[in-house]
Amino acid sequence: MKQVTCNACGWVHFGLTRAEVEREVTRFNVWFDAASHAVQANYGGKRSSEKHYLNCFRCGNPYVKFHTTVAGEAPRGSTIQPIMLSLALE
Ligand SMILES: [Zn+2]
Repeated sequence: MKQVTCNACGWVHFGLTRAEVEREVTRFNVWFDAASHAVQANYGGKRSSEKHYLNCFRCGNPYVKFHTTVAGEAPRGSTIQPIMLSLALE
């Protein structure tokens, strides 16, 4: 799994292909649509979409402004989020 780091804030993400993102969005939305309104509210009350995978989870920096993660940028046990990789990073 390729990891990339936001050039603006240093947050580390793991890269997904467009096909993987599409599968994740579909899977989440099937689950979300079947959930109660209370549960949906816990997830911001919104369905998922590809646009949620295009920017840094922390600061919103666009995914094209990332670099390949180097040792030490993601300490063991860190929580990292998915992001769609551009061809330039693959
Ligand atoms: Zn960032």
